[in-house]
Amino acid sequence: MGKKRRTVISYTNNDRRITHSVIPFMYFLVFSWTLLVSSTSASSQPNLQGTDDPGSRTLKQEDPQVHEVHCSRERSRVAWSIIEEYLMPFVERENYHLSSQCRLNSSNDLFRDQEEHKIHHDVNEWRCGYCKKSFYAEKHLDQHFDNRHYNLINSNGKCLADLCGALHCDLKMDSKSRKSKCNPAAAARNRHLCESVADGCFPVNYGPSAARLHDLFLRQFCDAHTCSRGKKPFSKGGRKHTSVFYLAISILTLMLLPVFYLIVYLYQREMRKGTQELKRISKIGQKTKPS
Ligand SMILES: [Zn+2]
Repeated sequence: MGKKRRTVISYTNNDRRITHSVIPFMYFLVFSWTLLVSSTSASSQPNLQGTDDPGSRTLKQEDPQVHEVHCSRERSRVAWSIIEEYLMPFVERENYHLSSQCRLNSSNDLFRDQEEHKIHHDVNEWRCGYCKKSFYAEKHLDQHFDNRHYNLINSNGKCLADLCGALHCDLKMDSKSRKSKCNPAAAARNRHLCESVADGCFPVNYGPSAARLHDLFLRQFCDAHTCSRGKKPFSKGGRKHTSVFYLAISILTLMLLPVFYLIVYLYQREMRKGTQELKRISKIGQKTKPS
């Protein structure tokens, strides 16, 4: 009997030892599994920030219910505004036509058609050019395009935001100059991307205007991809804008100019009157002297 009881006790002790060692192991398994799941779901998130990755992103086609585009609309818009401001004036001046192979050609922009169907009526009024629905903010209209007019995305287009590294989008997006440390590897990567865009859009053997624009593109965008100081992007300048400030100043000047002349005229008239009076007084004095 005693022997039997002892074996039973030893068995239950063993069991307890097993459960004691199994429970932490189970916890560890569950913990590592949740970590794995969260990391994979994070990596499969759409890349909305956009990176300097030169590879183009395409439409997500696996799931017809989700019309996700792995390309930042906002950064694409910034890239487009940079092209418009700092490249197109020179391209227009040379009367040069960007080929369809050129990544900067508007026909290669994923969002170009949608962006051109934005009607900006007022500060707080944005209208959809396809269905005329209006929105308070541009981001809501963007959302509307994503939800309702996803089929009007240029499916043959490429993500313009992928060229942001070459085109200095970050500089344009942050009004304050960032004091982040320069990364030589990233600068070299962006420079390479920048030069490949120049080669693709302005092949030097295409003629003198292509060669000139190739050189301009390097000076304007690529030279600044370096960690050595002194090189600034957009060194060749951009499109000339008639800003509201200058317009106000010139209108004010035009309005004040007649007032200024009127004051000068009145002052001179008063002065003339004063001298004539003095002359008359002196004449009277001369006449009264001999008597
Ligand atoms: Zn619409």
